[in-house]
Amino acid sequence: MIGEPLHVHGSVSAKALKNAALYCEAWANMLPADYHAIEITADTIVDDRAALTALDDRAVSAFSGGLDGIFTALRHKQRDLKAGSHDLDAVVMVHGLDVPHTEIEGFERLQKRVKPLLDLLGLPVITVWTDFRPLNRQTWGMSFSAQLSACLHLMSGMYRYALVGSSEPYSDIVLPWGSNPATDYLLSGASMEIVHDGAGYTRTEKVARIARNHVATACAKFCWEGEPDRNCGRCEKCIRTRFNFLAAVGDPYPACFDQPLDIASVSHLKLASKAIYTEFKTVLKHTQKEGWQGSWIDGLKCLVDKHATLYGDGAAALSSTGLPDSEKTVIERLEEENRRLGLTLSVYERSRGYRLWLCYNRLYRIRVLGLVLKCLRERVGLFLRYMKAL
Ligand SMILES: [Zn+2]
Repeated sequence: MIGEPLHVHGSVSAKALKNAALYCEAWANMLPADYHAIEITADTIVDDRAALTALDDRAVSAFSGGLDGIFTALRHKQRDLKAGSHDLDAVVMVHGLDVPHTEIEGFERLQKRVKPLLDLLGLPVITVWTDFRPLNRQTWGMSFSAQLSACLHLMSGMYRYALVGSSEPYSDIVLPWGSNPATDYLLSGASMEIVHDGAGYTRTEKVARIARNHVATACAKFCWEGEPDRNCGRCEKCIRTRFNFLAAVGDPYPACFDQPLDIASVSHLKLASKAIYTEFKTVLKHTQKEGWQGSWIDGLKCLVDKHATLYGDGAAALSSTGLPDSEKTVIERLEEENRRLGLTLSVYERSRGYRLWLCYNRLYRIRVLGLVLKCLRERVGLFLRYMKAL
């Protein structure tokens, strides 16, 4: 049962047990309302040295056709890190995570799309099929790395390392978020290391590396809102990626898209999480660092500015210590900002900071009402005693 102690009927390495305990501890700390640490035991605890069954230091890499996976495959296969590069031998594509497990033909089309790049790099594909996504009760955004790692561990007898492409860079870490350098390594066991790869680069910097290879650019598939083998060009992730290419190499028509870019579309976006907001913020930072000019930067800046209320430093202050004086003040301030930036109030009302504040405000009002009633009761009591004395 979820939330109860877990006993593994089999063998587990000592390292895996220790890491799992720390992993539970980390997530219970980051999301105490959703997770708590449980005890994990096993029939047999295997000595870590005995668990090192891999014959050599070869690595396998998670690959879905997205930019993070392409960047990792390119830089290790082409030895960007010299002696620090992993000996990448194959990629693992999991059918049932991004592409639903029932879409057999769609997944085959996706594999066909990325084949030219994998052939170019000499990387065979290991396909894993799973139906665990619709069956589990986890929040995908917070657990996807653990679920992906479970699939990668199927190869632990063959490979020593499993690379997972990073999300946000070290300079703009977002926590809590399912895949991050603080907890991903804790998904390692003694016979396979899970390596969070590429966090030294922003997504825009990764795009700059990928754009040097036309085949890699043309094969990239990162959109999950359209067909399984095509980038729709209109969703948030597609628009963000177009801006990654613009900021990285000034290319508004990268080969991974088959339609032109609508620059104005960026200002209408609603960013659904802090991780996505951070992605756009890093694109903007990159344009400033490179000294890019153009109307597309104004649209980008407007988008980042108007979401700073929800996800930036201001939002953090609002949701923790900076509780405003009155609801009226908050609404007035937000309405003024909305008029200025075009942000609808409903977006703010869905935020955790706003809900926390409302909760605090209601409790405060109940407390004040209680004090007033107590005071009135005392006054009436005094008055009655006075009248009685007369
Ligand atoms: Zn799309």
